[in-house]
Amino acid sequence: MPFTPFHLGPGALFKGAGGDRFSFMVFGGAQVLMDIEPLVRILRHDGVLHGFTHTIAGALAVGAITGALGKPISEPILRFFGLLRHPIPWKVSFITAMIGTYSHIILDGIMHADMEPFWPLIAGNPLLGLVDVGLLHILCAICGIIGAIAVAVRWSARNDLER
Ligand SMILES: [Zn+2]
Repeated sequence: MPFTPFHLGPGALFKGAGGDRFSFMVFGGAQVLMDIEPLVRILRHDGVLHGFTHTIAGALAVGAITGALGKPISEPILRFFGLLRHPIPWKVSFITAMIGTYSHIILDGIMHADMEPFWPLIAGNPLLGLVDVGLLHILCAICGIIGAIAVAVRWSARNDLER
């Protein structure tokens, strides 16, 4: 689906676990870039909404683009809001982007019957229905809550150190 915020729940958890080794901004950007294709297809009234971008190869391509754009776009935005403590290393930009696109196809794969995530190796969608969709949304929300708490703890610990 074009930009469903539930993808951000696991992103918050990754940020809480990874700290400076993970960029939540780049991760969010990956979610938006991944869902450009379905958005265009919805507007065109296509039967299949999740095409090439929602495959292993597509996620690699979108991840590479996101990694290349993520650092130069995120840094000025974070700096503007006073949230940039260090430049985002290129490695972090690319790894975060790939985590973003691959977690995206796993979550979308569980939900969307029109996806073929392992195309052209495996036809159909073996991920479909792996987890109940209602439960999946609850799990993503829980990830978001735990991640937000972890991020808050990291921030206060860092500010204590600098005081
Ligand atoms: Zn999607």
